[in-house]
Amino acid sequence: MESRRWKPGSHVLLRVVLNGRVLSAQPHIVVRDTPDVTVLWLPSGTVWMKPTGREEAVKKRLNGEWQLFSDIWNGEGLLRLTEPGRPYSVLVFWTPGMGAVDRWYINLEDPLRRTDLGFDYLDQLLDVVVAGDRKTWRWKDEDEFDDAVRVGLIDRSKALELRTAAKEAIEQIRFSRPPYTDEWRTWRPEAGWTLPELPNGWEIVSEGSRS
Ligand code: MG
Repeated sequence: MESRRWKPGSHVLLRVVLNGRVLSAQPHIVVRDTPDVTVLWLPSGTVWMKPTGREEAVKKRLNGEWQLFSDIWNGEGLLRLTEPGRPYSVLVFWTPGMGAVDRWYINLEDPLRRTDLGFDYLDQLLDVVVAGDRKTWRWKDEDEFDDAVRVGLIDRSKALELRTAAKEAIEQIRFSRPPYTDEWRTWRPEAGWTLPELPNGWEIVSEGSRS
C-alpha cells in the first residue's frame, strides 16, 4: 500500500479518523503524488461530511460524541500539500477569484496514511496561519491545543514536537522552500476536472487504518 501512488486527476477520499471513527470525510482531486509531496485539491462546491460541534474539539475527543452531516465546500478551492512523514500539511487558501494567495495554513496532524480510497490522518488541533505575502504568522487554536495537553489527550513531549515541527514549517514557507514555492500562486485546476464525490464505503474504517 505504501508504494502505491495516485495518478494526477484521480479522485481520492481524505478523512480524519479518531478512535476508529470518521470525524470528517472530504473527496479531493490528486494534483501530484510523488515521493516528495502529495498535493490534493478540494474544489469549491464539493460535498463533504462534517462533524457536529466543530467548536468543541477537545470535548468531542474526550466523550466521542459527534454526528456527521453533509455540507458543501464554499469559497475558492483549497490546495493541500503534504510531505511524507511530516506531522503537518500546508493548506493554500486564495483570495476570491484566485487572484492571490490569501494565506498559507499549517495544519498540525499525524502523518497521512494511505488507504484503498485515499488517505486518513488525525488532526492535532494546533494550526498556524502564515500571511499570503509570507511576512507574518500567528498560532491558531492554541487555547484548544493547550486544553488538549492539560487533559492528557496530547502528551507534553508530543506537544513540544508538534510546535517544533510547526516552526520548521513556518521557516520553509517564509523562505519559499520547495514544495512551498510561488509555483502555487499561479497554479490552476485543470479545466476538464469534475467535482469529486464521496465514494461508497467512505464511512468504513478498516482495522489497519485505525488510530
Ligand atoms: Mg487543524
